[in-house]
Amino acid sequence: MRSDTLITTPLQEPAIAVVNRIKVHIRCRNCGETFILRGVRDMKGHIETGFKKCLCDNDRDFDIEPLA
Ligand SMILES: [Zn+2]
Repeated sequence: MRSDTLITTPLQEPAIAVVNRIKVHIRCRNCGETFILRGVRDMKGHIETGFKKCLCDNDRDFDIEPLA
């Protein structure tokens, strides 16, 4: 059984290549301002954008939605 015929061995890549670069839509639940940022999603599904806070000083209450 040639189980390895169609399986390509992934190249060895540095860990940083594991994360997916995505665009992220962020909407402030306080004032409704929206932001489109580039972010990365790691293997745990956590999205990191570097976004700190909204213009209205809200820094925790957001809708965050990854864009395809
Ligand atoms: Zn806001």
